[in-house]
Amino acid sequence: MVQFRNSVSDPERLSLEAALLWATLPGGVKQRAVNQAWCRNCRDRVALAPGWAGRVEAGKLLLEGSCPRCGSPITRIIDATTAEPPSS
Ligand SMILES: [Zn+2]
Repeated sequence: MVQFRNSVSDPERLSLEAALLWATLPGGVKQRAVNQAWCRNCRDRVALAPGWAGRVEAGKLLLEGSCPRCGSPITRIIDATTAEPPSS
């Protein structure tokens, strides 16, 4: 099952490490990571603008993107160890 139903746009610029981590995350986590980022400038939740990038730092997945409204940079840290898959 590699078909994602129109959920999250394909990661565009992930490092190899980041891509491996990304692949282990449940779809819901990925969706929230990309679609519910916090823009400090707009003080609102926004979806990362297309073209966001990802890399791994200290075992954590970092998503770097920008706000589609104001263009402010947004960094999201995804702790893969807390992103547990559903138990059933
Ligand atoms: Zn913004």
